Amino acid sequence: AKARERSSWRRFDFSMVEQVTRRLAMEKNIRKGLENGEFVPYYQPRVDIRTGRVVGMEALVRWLKPDGTVGNPADFIPVAEDTGLIVQLGERVLRDACEQARRWHLSGLPGLRVAVNISAHQFRANLAELVFAVLEDSGLDPELLELEITESTMMSDLGQTVSLLEQLARRGIHTAIDDFGTGHSSLYYLKTFHINTLKIDRSFVRDILNDENDANIVSTVITMAQNLSLQVVAEGVETAEQLDFLRRHGCPEVQGYYYARPLPVAEFEAYVRKTNG
Ligand code: C2E
Ligand code: CA
Ligand code: CA
Ligand code: CA
Repeated sequence: AKARERSSWRRFDFSMVEQVTRRLAMEKNIRKGLENGEFVPYYQPRVDIRTGRVVGMEALVRWLKPDGTVGNPADFIPVAEDTGLIVQLGERVLRDACEQARRWHLSGLPGLRVAVNISAHQFRANLAELVFAVLEDSGLDPELLELEITESTMMSDLGQTVSLLEQLARRGIHTAIDDFGTGHSSLYYLKTFHINTLKIDRSFVRDILNDENDANIVSTVITMAQNLSLQVVAEGVETAEQLDFLRRHGCPEVQGYYYARPLPVAEFEAYVRKTNG
């Protein structure tokens, strides 16, 4: 038994060391990638379900590595969060997205609102000042920016959340609750928080046609949002059948692979020109 214990300890230790080493290497690479401008947003269209027109886009970060591969958020966002590098990375994405939205606004694709994800580390007292400064620097109309914040981020410090949302709203910046339904949503806070949009999480949309609970949740959220005068966006729409369900239940806006994946700048631009005419 002793020998077995010892060997299992050795295995345990080894994998721990390996994991820590990998994380440290990843942290170093993220720092280097930030210096070299390797993190850039791709853009996924947000579509008006009735007209099929693109009304905006979500900025989703990608890591364009020196070896030519493209890294997805699932691979590096957790490490960026743990190390706090997400603050720097998030600011980079915010600046890029605002500058790009401004360029599109001026170059024949006017009025598209860009949505940017804000991590819990960024949702701090100084967020409003940062956002105001970025808007000033980029020249983007505040009405054309939406910040996506998850429920759990909003619920961690209610006083601060109320104050931040007020500061942003006073300047006309939109805010959305991201991944709605996956955290501790409360109807009370939905009424109290100064927000514009609910984004229905992809996990509810996925089984909308087979799972009666998911179908009921989605149709209830749509109705509720309308009663509260909130915009609502269904995420992760992949099929014509899902789209049809959402249309029949009055969902105004959708996002998903059915229309387009997150696209690099030139491809997004081509997509919008083709779609919006
Ligand atoms: P999210 O904010 O919920 O973003 C939606 C994710 O769903 C994106 O994954 C998008 O590519 C994916 N998606 C969109 N439509 C479909 C669909 O029809 N089917 C499927 N299967 N997936 C779809 P992505 O780009 O890999 O990003 C994953 C997560 O990483 C995001 O989830 C967000 O939490 C985080 N993230 C991405 N960019 C940023 C960023 O700039 N800052 C921060 N803080 N987080 C980010
Ligand atoms: Ca999001
Ligand atoms: Ca989401
Ligand atoms: Ca998410």
